[in-house]
Amino acid sequence: MEGIGTQCVQSGYTPGNGEPRQIPIIQSTTFKYATGEEMAKLFDLESNGYFYTRLQNPTNDYVAAKIAVLEGGSAGMLTSSGQAANFYAVFNIASCGDHVVSSSSIYGGTYNLFAVTMKRMGIDFTFVSPDCSEEELEAAFRPNTKAVFGETIANPALTVLDFDKFAKAAHAHGVPLIVDNTFATPVNCRPFEFGADIVTHSTTKYMDGHGAGVGGAIVDSGKFDWTKYPDRFPGLCTPDESYHGVTYTERFGLAGAFITKATAQLMRDFGSIQSPQNAFLLNLGLESLHVRMQRHCENGLAVAKYLQSSDKIAWVQYPGLAGDKYYDIAKKYMPNGTCGVVSFGVKGGREAAERFMGRLKIAAIETHVADARTCCLHPASTTHRQMSDAELAAAGVSPDLVRYSCGLEDAADLIADIEQTLTFS
Ligand SMILES: *Cc1c(COP(=O)(O)O)cnc(C)c1O
Repeated sequence: MEGIGTQCVQSGYTPGNGEPRQIPIIQSTTFKYATGEEMAKLFDLESNGYFYTRLQNPTNDYVAAKIAVLEGGSAGMLTSSGQAANFYAVFNIASCGDHVVSSSSIYGGTYNLFAVTMKRMGIDFTFVSPDCSEEELEAAFRPNTKAVFGETIANPALTVLDFDKFAKAAHAHGVPLIVDNTFATPVNCRPFEFGADIVTHSTTKYMDGHGAGVGGAIVDSGKFDWTKYPDRFPGLCTPDESYHGVTYTERFGLAGAFITKATAQLMRDFGSIQSPQNAFLLNLGLESLHVRMQRHCENGLAVAKYLQSSDKIAWVQYPGLAGDKYYDIAKKYMPNGTCGVVSFGVKGGREAAERFMGRLKIAAIETHVADARTCCLHPASTTHRQMSDAELAAAGVSPDLVRYSCGLEDAADLIADIEQTLTFS
């Protein structure tokens, strides 16, 4: 197998003789056919091809194929956002009356999606601490549980998922483990190697890496055997009447069933497609992902070490920092590095945190992370403001938490910026 760097640069699109070297942007809503019959075959999923960009577009598919290779999966698809990716990944196998077990330490937007919006659709979620015991995790399952969900490195709490514990519990109950791998990226962690079955991404973050386009992706490992539990996963194992009775696992096998269903059914009906233009920009980001991740991690570690040495800082959390609660587990699953995001508390609590941020010159205050430009955020007053104190605590977000996302600048400049801020606080 080629190294991850070669995959980042080369995989997904292989031009033929005389074809464009760069991925072409197929900026077309629709595709032409000579006969209605040919198009009907596409509609019935009887032949492969494109007919309408709400469902599929070649530019998107080249880029999705690259992400599938990076994750070591069997099939992938792009979505318009990370939110859409997580929604589709869960809704593809869970519907009204079903239940999902999720780590409580997840992105605030995902928490809302699960606990509020999908709950209104009749899907129940039980949230468990990522640090829970095997017994506590076991107790969260119900007969109608359809999936287990977690984040490799949680945004913004920076907890690290214990893949062995979560995958073992999911598989003992005959359900897949869905992992949001946004912060680690496949450069630092490939969840399929540790038992995950489906991976999601907010490509808005490191994969794009330049704050240029909102997007998401879903990748299937192709390894979860839905057909062992046909009653639990009827959507994949019994005929889809909205597609003339196609049974996804029969027609597309384990390698293709999950992504084909999500494309043919959910993308058709919800339409959260990524624009081909954004997919093109995403691919530019992917071409340098392996180079950038290394620098993000170097800067993350340097900033974390500096913060740890400062007497103005109450606490620092960075899974790549020796002594961090998640250091050992991060070393186990991410030996080459974690991410560029560091969380810390400024002494003096909520107000000190807000004052600190206001004085930074290089780091900009943004609802964003994982950008080439360093940015920071105070989650308690922004992204997580709709949560109660108890919910904040469960999500691992304290009122003084500052989320600082190290960009690609020089570490010495980032540290000097933080130092000048703390000197006057
Ligand atoms: C940002 C983020 C999301 C949501 O992605 P969008 O692209 O903003 O919709 C989901 N999961 C994680 C871990 C994120 O950081």
